[in-house]
Amino acid sequence: MERETFFSLAPEAARERVIEFGGRPFHADVVRREVFERGVLAYADMTSLSQNLRDRLERELPLLSSRETHRTTAPDRTTKLLLELADGATVETVHMPSTRADKGATLCVSTQVGCPVGCPFCASGRAGLERNLAAHEILEQFLYGRSIGPVSRAVVMGIGEPLLNASNLIGALAVVHDELGIGARKITVSTVGFPERVRRLAPTKPPFQLAISLHTPDDAQRDELVPAMAGTPIAAVIEAGAEWFRATGREVTYEYCLLGGANDSRGHAERLVERLRGQRCTVNLIPYNPVAASLPGQVSGVRYRRPSGETAENFRSVLEEGGLVATVRWSRGLSTDAACGQLRIRHGSASGD
Ligand code: SF4
Repeated sequence: MERETFFSLAPEAARERVIEFGGRPFHADVVRREVFERGVLAYADMTSLSQNLRDRLERELPLLSSRETHRTTAPDRTTKLLLELADGATVETVHMPSTRADKGATLCVSTQVGCPVGCPFCASGRAGLERNLAAHEILEQFLYGRSIGPVSRAVVMGIGEPLLNASNLIGALAVVHDELGIGARKITVSTVGFPERVRRLAPTKPPFQLAISLHTPDDAQRDELVPAMAGTPIAAVIEAGAEWFRATGREVTYEYCLLGGANDSRGHAERLVERLRGQRCTVNLIPYNPVAASLPGQVSGVRYRRPSGETAENFRSVLEEGGLVATVRWSRGLSTDAACGQLRIRHGSASGD
């Protein structure tokens, strides 16, 4: 069984442990404040606690379950963190400072170890799902991200399909919302859009914006690009998106990874306009980045290519002429060494600018 840590416990249970270790209940709140308000990530640095209490906590209730094993920063200051979890599995988190000095950074977090969806253009999907992340493992990505610099937005667009781990994600986001102060409109959760799950969540108005990765207007091609959803009609996905808007009042963003020569033709753009006509939504076009999507040391292992800037711009124009709001998001942090194509494919849509 996994060892208890401070953040794997509910606040009340953590208070009880602190009392067992000779502290007072409010000392548990001091720990939370040190972490959430001051960004402290070690008991040793919490000098308002007695040395005895810090030592007991250190020995018997570690603060975090994960540890940072790798950090890479690109020239545009995008930083990728690799975190090792208690069982040795690893997850990636990316901290992306805004290009505008007055805005904080966007943090991109993961929700699963591996991913069961199997998109053929994504390295993470090839190995399949290992396991869901626990709520505290999702939360800890925020804590490490904050240690790099202020975080004002979050995108749940890292490894994994968030709606297949929704309750742990929502548990983590509740803490992020309440204690890190990142509001619902500044958190975007990106899903492939399982209609039943979107419909079930919508009336609960979870604290985030929804982005649905569509990638094509054609059912047969979507079965190929998003294998876990094979057989689910695109119309059902869009109808679930509409239901989300009706229930939450928040518009859906549709994400479309532009794969050179595969889904970036004028016909695809025109059919996408037909699909989304009348929907309250925006479309993010994300030109595919084959280098980012490769497994380590396997740059040419993918069969798609990056579209030209002109193709991406033409695609966007067709959408705009059709009455849709559309933006092209080029990747950031291209020189960051990353194992996961997914994170970097999505950097562009994750900038928050
Ligand atoms: S693109 Fe997203 S949903 Fe698809 S395999 Fe990669 S992580 Fe999973």
